[in-house]
Amino acid sequence: MQENTQLVTAGRHPERFGGVVNTPIFRGSTILAGSMDEWERMKRARAADEFGATTYGRYGAATHHALQEAVAQIEGGYRSLVYPSGLAAISTALTALLAAGDHVLVPDCAYSPTRSFLKNVLSRYGVEVDVYDPLVGVGIDALMKSNTRVVFVESPGSETFEIQDIPAIAAVAHARGALVVMDNTWGTPLFFKPFKHGVDVSIQAATKYIVGHSDALMGIVTCTREVWPKIKATSSDMGQTTSPDDIYLALRGLRTMGVRLARHHESGLAVASWLERRAEVEAVLHPALPSHPGHALWKRDFTGACGLFTMVLRTASVPAMHAFVDALEHFGIGVSWGGYESLVIPFTPGASHTGARWPWKGLALRLHVGLEDVPDLLADLERGFAALQAAERSAAAPAKHPVAA
Ligand SMILES: *Cc1c(COP(=O)(O)O)cnc(C)c1O
Repeated sequence: MQENTQLVTAGRHPERFGGVVNTPIFRGSTILAGSMDEWERMKRARAADEFGATTYGRYGAATHHALQEAVAQIEGGYRSLVYPSGLAAISTALTALLAAGDHVLVPDCAYSPTRSFLKNVLSRYGVEVDVYDPLVGVGIDALMKSNTRVVFVESPGSETFEIQDIPAIAAVAHARGALVVMDNTWGTPLFFKPFKHGVDVSIQAATKYIVGHSDALMGIVTCTREVWPKIKATSSDMGQTTSPDDIYLALRGLRTMGVRLARHHESGLAVASWLERRAEVEAVLHPALPSHPGHALWKRDFTGACGLFTMVLRTASVPAMHAFVDALEHFGIGVSWGGYESLVIPFTPGASHTGARWPWKGLALRLHVGLEDVPDLLADLERGFAALQAAERSAAAPAKHPVAA
């Protein structure tokens, strides 16, 4: 079955719900059994880890199971679990796989709250954390210790867009007895297939393209059969649970994710190539552009690009950058991404990354290209550049001082 067909069919069982096309919202804390016999059966099913077995709302009901079934199938893992945010998915998965005395490697380019969680929380519980260069490839071998249990990967890197050689890193990690945990939010379950590239645990900030409409926060962990018991047990021990109303929004988003992403890919690339030709732009970091240093790896491992990329302006003037951003009408100023709308947000690479490989001098902006028509977005950016140039001209003009009498 091909991808868009999968997106339409996965996790759907209308025959169980009176023929209703979408799995309804099942709210519930208590889940009643009809008899003691049935209660015993429910408990046995949960203990035996039967898919969809539940005894209490915190473990989810049919709405949860529909999303979990669908994402596991589309991303290609054994099972999925849903969490109230992407970060909750990341922190729970890492807690499940690490213990006091263990060592974890996290790339410099990882989403900064992921690095904060490792450094501020897990290190307090005796986990040793080392940050590594995302472009290390097989060189990861030299960084592995006898107690390395997890190699975290994120490709492309948040904000800085390095493409990691995941199969090479996974081969080394597995040879040394470590698991590979990936933040696959940029790749989405469609454009990067983690389990075909050696990943053991894949995390989606479903807040982004799965929900897809900027109206709910959610995370999803998908993993191999070997890792599943640990992920499930720790999620249960930590009381992780997610609202069925939000899950309904994620299921709705999932059905159209293929067409949305095809458009994000096409429009994002069109805007990125246009920006690359502008004199005001020092660099565009978009893995699908041939100029990107990770382009060959991206082409080898990914089947598309989402709408998120970075551009570096030539100017280092903050007022000029502000003038550019303030002149934009279609690009909203704000974090998060993956919704239908375009966004822009400045960032300082050195502030959250070691910045070891950041040769650019100008100010950096992260762009999300939404589902608007490209000509409107280009006209918007043109307006931004006109404002930027005007700001630079007025800064260059000699200041007018009142003449002292
Ligand atoms: C947004 C994001 C997250 C966190 O997701 P939340 O739902 O906001 O907690 C994790 N990783 C990446 C790459 C993200 O962009």
